[in-house]
Order: sequence, then C-alpha cells, then structure tokens
Amino acid sequence: MTKPIVRFAPSPTGRLHVGNVRTALMNVLFAQAEGGTFVLRIDDTDLDRSTAEYEQGIRDDLSWLGVSWGKTFKQSDRFGMYDEAAAKLKAAGLLYACYETSDELDRQRKLLRVAGKPPIYNRAALELTDAEKSALEAEGRTPHWRFKLSGGTVTWHDLVRGEQTIDMSSLSDPVLIRGDGSYLYTLPSVVDDIEAEITHVIRGEDHVTNSGAQIEIFRALSDHLPEFAHTPLLVGGDGKSLSKRLGSLSMLELRQQGIEPMSIASLLAKIGTSDAVEIRHSLKALADEFAFTKIGRAPARFDEKDLTALNAKLLHETPYADVKDRVPGDEDFWNIVRANIEKISDIDDWADIVLKPMSGEIAAEDKAFCETAAEFLPAKVTPETWGSLIAHLKAETGRKGKGLFMPLRLALTGQQHGPSMDDMLQLLGADKAKARLRGQAA
Ligand code: GLU
Repeated sequence: MTKPIVRFAPSPTGRLHVGNVRTALMNVLFAQAEGGTFVLRIDDTDLDRSTAEYEQGIRDDLSWLGVSWGKTFKQSDRFGMYDEAAAKLKAAGLLYACYETSDELDRQRKLLRVAGKPPIYNRAALELTDAEKSALEAEGRTPHWRFKLSGGTVTWHDLVRGEQTIDMSSLSDPVLIRGDGSYLYTLPSVVDDIEAEITHVIRGEDHVTNSGAQIEIFRALSDHLPEFAHTPLLVGGDGKSLSKRLGSLSMLELRQQGIEPMSIASLLAKIGTSDAVEIRHSLKALADEFAFTKIGRAPARFDEKDLTALNAKLLHETPYADVKDRVPGDEDFWNIVRANIEKISDIDDWADIVLKPMSGEIAAEDKAFCETAAEFLPAKVTPETWGSLIAHLKAETGRKGKGLFMPLRLALTGQQHGPSMDDMLQLLGADKAKARLRGQAA
C-alpha cells in the first residue's frame, strides 16, 4: 500500500473537545501505524465565527497531546482554488443558481411534510430561463448555488462501517455557495482532499451522508477518490449524548483539571474498540495497536470517571525522571507519593505536610501517649513501622479506634484527614516524626 496521507480538519470556532480529539487521534494513530503523513487543515471558511485564538488553541492542544503534523494549511488562504472548482462544476452544469429565500424554502418543506412527502428540494431553479434569472436579480436577489446530485446510488466500502449505500434521490441537492458568495464546508473539503492527495478520510459518522454528496463531487472534479472511515460518535458514561457537555470536556478544561495527555489519548483511542481500556505511555504504543477492524459500530462511551482512574494509573507508573521538573521533593518522595495521587496537583497536600516544617497539635491528655509513640519509633522507618507502632500502642495503652489513631495523625500531620499514615510516616522519617510527636517544630 502507498503511504497514507490523512487529515484532521477542525473548525476554529471553539476549543478542541474530546469528540474531535478522538477523530484527530484516529487519523494520527493510523498515519503513524502505516508510516504515513498527518495533515492539519484549519476549516475556517466561516470567517465570522472563526478566530485566530481558537486556531492557536487547536495547535496548542494538539501539541500538548504530543501530536505533530507533517503539513498544515487553512482554507481561508485557498478561496482561489475553490472558485476554480466552482467554475468547473458550473461549466459542467453541476452547480446551479437558486434564488429562493430561506422563508420560501421553509414553506416548501412544510408543504411537502404535510403532504407526507420527504422535504427534498424541488429543483425548480433548474427550470429558470436566463430572462427569469435576470428578473430575479433585478429584484435584488443574489443566487446561492446547489450541486446537482446524480439521483442514483453512491456506494463505498467504509473501513469502519463496511458496505455503505446512499440513495442520492432521497437527498436535497446540497448548497455549496451561500447567497453572500461564501463557501459551505462541502466543496472546499473535497478540493483540499484532492489537492493534498488525501488517501483516507477518517471522521465522525455524522458525516456519512455528506460523504455520498462529496463522493459525487470528487468524481466531478478529478480521478482522485480517498477511502472513507466513519467512526461512531461519543456518548457519556450514562449512554446519553455529550453534545451539551462538550464545553466542559475541552482539552483546555481537562488540562487545567490536571489530566495528563496520555490519559486522555489512551482513553479516547481505546473506548469503543475491541481492546481493553488501559494506559499507554506514548502515541507510538497506541499506534502499534491501532486497527480500523477493532473499532465497533456502537457509540463509544466516554466516562470522566474512567479518565480520573486512568490518570491515577498513569501517575503510579510514571518514573521520577519524567516528572522531576513538575513536582516538589526528591525521588524517594515521588516514589511513595505517586501511589496515592490521582492528579499531579494532589501532591501539594503531601508536600505541605511533609516538606514544610510544622509542629503538630497535641492535646494535654495525649502528650504521654505521643511520647510513648516517639520512644517506640525505630531509627529507620519502613513500610511496616506504622502497623507495628499501632499494635504496640494498642497493647501498651489499651486505646483503640479514633482515640488510638487521631492523636498520632494530628501530631504528625496537623490535620484530621489526609493521606494514609503508613506512607506518611515513611516520608517524614524517624527524626521528623519523633520531633512532631514531642510537639516540636520539624
Ligand atoms: N470541519 C469539518 C468538521 O469539523 C471537517 C469534517 C471532515 O473531516 O471532513 O466537521
């Protein structure tokens, strides 16, 4: 097989969210698996809604995820190419001028629905004579332009969905150019896919019907036709649509919450596939396991709880060298703390208690008890020390439950709640622990 060329084509009208990052990953992983090229295309033909900040946000989010692109361009730089393609379609009689207002089209659709017919555009504009068109333009109407679908069937072998057949007679001729001359997404996408020699169009299954029309446009413009893979959409852990929640599931938001890039990438690459959802430490590792045949047809469930759990798992497996610029303390501190955190920022609670000098709280009635504890502590604290300390104190003093644990926790950490004490004691070490148990700052 020739090396694939794929593209991810977000619109810079918002930040990237888990839905479009999943599409990006499918493209990146397939390209990496096959030694192909990943193209980043910015779909900014909607000049009113696209912004430079969102475009930069897309690049930042992808870079943060570890995704790089072999080539990038934006559609707003290429209107000349789209104009040429439109001229070619017009010359072939495949792109025709329509003058109906949106109110008129609404009314037509309503009438068709009432009559029990599908609301398909009636192609009245195809019958207009030049004189009628001039008269309409003299009224101040500017045309929008529709692509004339074949009315036959379009079939392709989808790499995820298998054989697909679209009955083109069940669709309205799509508008490619609006009345104000601006392009909808449909034509520029095909023109770019031809020019960039895209071999595989990998995108969400909300584009399946588009693909029918776009395949006819490909055929009208060139001999180039990519393969298609339409992946099922994401739903929430409850099986419900994520559409209303996507704002809070942006890369920016998740990143601010302290989720690591490979936690997101691992989850999005694996959900909805026949592979187990497990942490992988690099995109390369995910790419090695990528196959279209593993992607199921059912919606992929995205549950934030899984993301937190995977993030914890990832941190537990992360060596000090990979985080040393981001965390306080030394390697020993990290090796103990990492098993207790879900997010890197959780480490602050531990650092505050262990690394900053403090004197714990000891009530008058607990002074002797804490002194007994201090005396018992060996010079070197091991993972077993806490257990033997508790057993010893229980036997010596008869205390149990809260009366046994709480004075120690308060003396050693200054807090009623917090991380597990066996790890905490080890992190403090014998000297600090003894001092705190004696009410001294350490
Ligand atoms: N800009 C389009 C979207 O975000 C691209 C779809 C495609 O990949 O062709 O839906």
